[in-house]
Amino acid sequence: MMEKIVQSLRMERENPFCAYLYDLSKLRHHVHRLMTTLPSSCRLFYAIKANSDVTLLKTLAPIVHGFEVASLGEIEKVRAVDKKIPILFGGPGKTQKEIEGAIHYGVTLLHVESLHELQLVNHIASQKGTTVSILLRVNLRSSVPNAQLKMAGVPTQFGIDEVEVPNAIALAKCLPNLKLLGFHFHAMSNNGDSKTHAYFVDHCFEMEKTWQKEWDIDISYINVGGGIGINYQDVEEQFDWDDFMKCVKKVVEKHKDANWQTLFECGRYITSSCGYYAAEVLDIKQNHGKNFCVVRGGSHHLRLPAAWKQSHPFTIVPVEKWPYPFTRPEVNESVITVAGELCTPNDVLARDISVPRVRVGDILLFSYAGAYGWAISHHDFLSHPHPEHLYIESNSIKSSDARTEDQRDESYMFS
Ligand SMILES: *Cc1c(COP(=O)(O)O)cnc(C)c1O
Repeated sequence: MMEKIVQSLRMERENPFCAYLYDLSKLRHHVHRLMTTLPSSCRLFYAIKANSDVTLLKTLAPIVHGFEVASLGEIEKVRAVDKKIPILFGGPGKTQKEIEGAIHYGVTLLHVESLHELQLVNHIASQKGTTVSILLRVNLRSSVPNAQLKMAGVPTQFGIDEVEVPNAIALAKCLPNLKLLGFHFHAMSNNGDSKTHAYFVDHCFEMEKTWQKEWDIDISYINVGGGIGINYQDVEEQFDWDDFMKCVKKVVEKHKDANWQTLFECGRYITSSCGYYAAEVLDIKQNHGKNFCVVRGGSHHLRLPAAWKQSHPFTIVPVEKWPYPFTRPEVNESVITVAGELCTPNDVLARDISVPRVRVGDILLFSYAGAYGWAISHHDFLSHPHPEHLYIESNSIKSSDARTEDQRDESYMFS
């Protein structure tokens, strides 16, 4: 379906095609399925830093239990979409203004990342004559072995060191304007294995139970974070969500005496698969014995593969139109490297990929681009035009309704 849409969009345009495409029906369908398979004591939040596009937030707000945010800016983005939806607020280095904003906007839980932050939140809450419900974010001493990025189990700027947790609990308990309701354990990113992820959840339960017993805390929540991965190398082999849910059911059953709500705050796994990045091939050339396809676009739109030094998966959308009176460059049954339009050798989207055929004017369609794509990229490096942002509903396509002035993408309606 996406191939046909891209071909017809290209037909309507004069300039080389470059766009983010979001399939909103696919997003809805995917997240509905996640929600219906959750055990009844679990809650699924969307971590909006993965992609805080307003159209995606509007699509997700009626489906998920809430949003997880990491700044006042993100709180405001959520509140612009939904005045009431539950918000979890975490992240290191919260400022006074952010904490005041969190109170003002009715954040449900604030994840406290250090002993100093405990004091600061309590101080601000007492000045405002209110109480703030908190979870303590913990950096456990052990971690999940195969995750791509580790926020815990290793020294990082995140959370309170496991060995310091008793001090943090003691302090939280005697600060009058804080209500300690549990712990937060986000510890990794892009974990591909359902069994190790479930094992991690069980380990979090064990730790939280130990602290609850030792310190007699009245706990309501356990937040096990996000970190469920996408397999960018082999798109047919994705995280086994059904198996994960089967294992999580066993874990919550095992710990049902605790009677806590289990919170998940996933980013990548929620929006990655609904997003596509399309970039037209501008040039094909051989350099030092390798084939390079240069596209309209690059890592200033999709930084993820360059950041992680990996190839991003793509398919080739053939475009038959060729307007010039000279030979169209192409390679057949070849290995190509896909580079962007920036003047840096780091601007590579995929390296050494075998393709049957690719021609100048064909469009490369990168899948799994809906999370940590546009959101983490340096859009204005080299001042090329931004990509279009298009939203697909089963039979119509809309351009972004949230464009800022500096975005030079065209408006487009399709029916
Ligand atoms: C980034 C982040 C998430 C989401 O992580 P994903 O890997 O995208 O699921 C959740 N919680 C916290 C605290 C984060 O920083």
